[in-house]
Amino acid sequence: QTALLNERTTKSKAMYAHASEHLSGGVASSYQGRDPWPIYIESGAGDRITDVDGNEFYDFHNGFGSMVQGHAHPAIGEALAKRYPLGTHFAAATEDVIDVADELARRWGLPKWRFTNSGSESTMDAIRIARAYTGRDTVMKIFGSYHGHHDTVMVSIGVEYDKIGDRENYASLAYGAGIPQATVDMTIAVPFNDAGAMERRIERLAEEGRLPACVIMEAAMMNLGVVLPEPGYLEAVREITSKHGIVLIFDEVKTGLAIAAGGATEKFGVTPDLVTLAKVLGGGLPSGAIGGSEEVMSVVESGKVYQVGTYNGNPLSMAAAKASLLEVLTPEAYVRLGELNDRIVAGCQAVIEKYDLPGYAVGIGSKGCVTFSTEKITDYEGFKNAQDAELCDLAWLWNMNHGIFMTPGREEEWTLSVVHSDAAIDAYVDTFDKLAAALTA
Ligand code: PMP
Repeated sequence: QTALLNERTTKSKAMYAHASEHLSGGVASSYQGRDPWPIYIESGAGDRITDVDGNEFYDFHNGFGSMVQGHAHPAIGEALAKRYPLGTHFAAATEDVIDVADELARRWGLPKWRFTNSGSESTMDAIRIARAYTGRDTVMKIFGSYHGHHDTVMVSIGVEYDKIGDRENYASLAYGAGIPQATVDMTIAVPFNDAGAMERRIERLAEEGRLPACVIMEAAMMNLGVVLPEPGYLEAVREITSKHGIVLIFDEVKTGLAIAAGGATEKFGVTPDLVTLAKVLGGGLPSGAIGGSEEVMSVVESGKVYQVGTYNGNPLSMAAAKASLLEVLTPEAYVRLGELNDRIVAGCQAVIEKYDLPGYAVGIGSKGCVTFSTEKITDYEGFKNAQDAELCDLAWLWNMNHGIFMTPGREEEWTLSVVHSDAAIDAYVDTFDKLAAALTA
């Protein structure tokens, strides 16, 4: 499968030779590459993308889960075309920012909003707000959760299983070099779906005089395939954090606008103190947001915290966000997404059963995946133990050679768009069926 993909991507190979001269690794950002060379993309339309060799794919990667609107959506194109001649950047608010904040407040039931340009900026600022509000330094996160590339949260992800430590006392470990040990030590990780372990760790930290400022978490884990919260877990977390005056942050960079109109907050009916958004919000333009309660966000309003950025609330991004919210990501669109996701999950589950594969299909909103494990995975430890790395690599190559675009790696899930066709879904399932047949032949 590797040789086949290499044969089909010779222009990408040539481009890589040129790209490597002045682009580190031939790409703009880590995780945009693959061995032996990256695949360069030329264009996208609706549910499809085309690479520079002319290979066409149905896109299930969707820009790391950003393009729930689909590529080159006409409503967003029109909003951008209208905005451009009026000027694209003032570092002063435009009317669209107000409209976007209104709509997000309505969807999340959180009254106060600010804007950023990415998920990392959103989580970085939210953590600072929580620290300022509580006057505490320690940050609690879920082991294995990704929250962006700033130092505080580049901790306890992608760790070898034997280095994790004991479940009641997980180690704090840097993800990659260049992160100061003092920062790493300030971040404490606990297992997902285990409110008891969280509470015990919080109580011990309290005894040490290190109560966390916040718990930052995804309500449904998205960078571990898809791991859903067990019934009662989020409610318990809400109760524990409230009891200790800890700011609860739902990082909805992946779930927000992707699993429901009001994200995980709406889907699971538990409201955090702060929520972070990015990805889908900008409809393909860089943008992010932080929403919160009056009380917690008061540290921004009072000027105690500087929540600042030259491009925050950029007019182009906000025009795209407004068109996305009001014209594309409508209540009907979420009904359609749900139908599409049911179809892909059921299709994949049927293949698993037909070939008696060790796995299960899981989905929520526009997101889902096939998890290769006989046991249900509820946290990072389970995931590390169960996912078959070789099978995941093979499945990725197989998909790419059959016109299904995904990101390499076993942590990502599929993201459907509101313009995905039934044909795209059926192609995904059919490709999986062919892989299963080849594997079991
Ligand atoms: N939080 C979560 C849950 C994410 O999945 C990501 C990105 N995958 C981020 C934060 C960081 O977002 P960005 O890449 O826009 O900085």
